[in-house]
Amino acid sequence: MSLTIGLVCQRNNNIPFIFESAVANGFNLVLIHAPGETPPTQMPAVSRTLELDIFANPETALSKLEAKKLGLDGIITSREEAVPWTALAAQILKLPGLDPEAALIARDKTKMRKAFSAVGLNVPRFVSLSADEPVALSEGMSYPVVVKPTGGYASQGVIRVDKASDLEDAVSKVREINTRTLDAFSSTKNATNWGAVIIEEYIDGPEYAVEVFATEGRVHVLSIGYKGDPKGPYFEETVYLAQAQLAPDILKEIAEQAVGGMAALDLTNGPGHCELRLRNSTQPYLLEIGARIGGSGVSQFIVQESIGIDYADLQFRQSSQAALPELPYIATPIAAAGNWIIPLGGHGQLVKVEGLRAVHEHPDTRRILTFLEPDTHVQPYPVFSGYPGFVLSRHTDWQSGVDYHRWLSQTIQTHWLTA
Ligand code: ADP
Ligand code: CA
Repeated sequence: MSLTIGLVCQRNNNIPFIFESAVANGFNLVLIHAPGETPPTQMPAVSRTLELDIFANPETALSKLEAKKLGLDGIITSREEAVPWTALAAQILKLPGLDPEAALIARDKTKMRKAFSAVGLNVPRFVSLSADEPVALSEGMSYPVVVKPTGGYASQGVIRVDKASDLEDAVSKVREINTRTLDAFSSTKNATNWGAVIIEEYIDGPEYAVEVFATEGRVHVLSIGYKGDPKGPYFEETVYLAQAQLAPDILKEIAEQAVGGMAALDLTNGPGHCELRLRNSTQPYLLEIGARIGGSGVSQFIVQESIGIDYADLQFRQSSQAALPELPYIATPIAAAGNWIIPLGGHGQLVKVEGLRAVHEHPDTRRILTFLEPDTHVQPYPVFSGYPGFVLSRHTDWQSGVDYHRWLSQTIQTHWLTA
């Protein structure tokens, strides 16, 4: 008999990988979604949907979930803002899940920084400001710095600041984004993020994403992938290419920061999407860990294609107490896998994205996912209005992946009407 997993607030953005894993491994999915959000019912494995007001009325949503008796065998999310509520839901349903306190810490960049620092992991100097605290750096901090919301995602409101005279303005911009969008996800249960801003020293060096999976406190490193070398002032995502080509001792240190970060946050079970930058190209500094499969399922694709492990299946199994396969401490790559995030390349009214036919015909292309319909109005970063699309690929070796991404940058072009 197949098991039924509640999938909480999956973004309706056509990313199929978690759903395809559910079908392949015989799980049914119940999509739990917030009012005003449209669940992706067109995806495979979906057996039903349930609307619950998890962000504005989390307590009521928990009682309703319990009363519904959906017969869930597990409950998970890949949605950053829904991690704390999903932990509470698992607890109330007596299913495996994150410790609710750990889930809250993993949603708050200030608490995360403190937890990393407490166990001696590499942390840049930082200062946190509540909603109306005066703007100042703390002792010993120097420019450039990065200003960002403590509860953000998708790089919205993340701004690099190079000099003191620009700091106030950047903090005001981030506060505006908090008020306009992010505060809505900070329920009373998660009030520490409400209006909060973190300022930290800019870590100069290439960026990496580490996909991990924890079982009873043992953290397994599934994948280490290159994420570009974004310099700001805004941090629109651009590229993901795994597995990273680095010296073995640096790979080992990256793995150790990610594993240590999971332990510091008390994330003893489940997936972790860890982001870090290599200061001076040698010293890994953790930026953050998301207690979820990254990129709404993009990390599922990257891990499966480049490592041959079905990441989402691990989470389905763990959340429903099904048997898990043996996992290595560090997995061995079998191929290169990439995600090219189609750059906005402008803002205003989207006319079209050109070049996708040629991309479709390239033998290394695995999937083209587009998210913005023509005529959509898009604001420039630091506001996040959505990605034009993703191009997912698989390559026999790293260099083919690098060449392919260069080719994509020359082949795909967005066109805009700007008022
Ligand atoms: P979000 O939750 O919005 O993804 P992050 O903290 O991951 O927020 O920041 C988004 C991006 O901004 C990072 O992937 C990185 O490129 C850049 N960034 C954030 N903080 C720093 C920092 N202290 N130094 C250098 N780059 C940073
Ligand atoms: Ca991030």
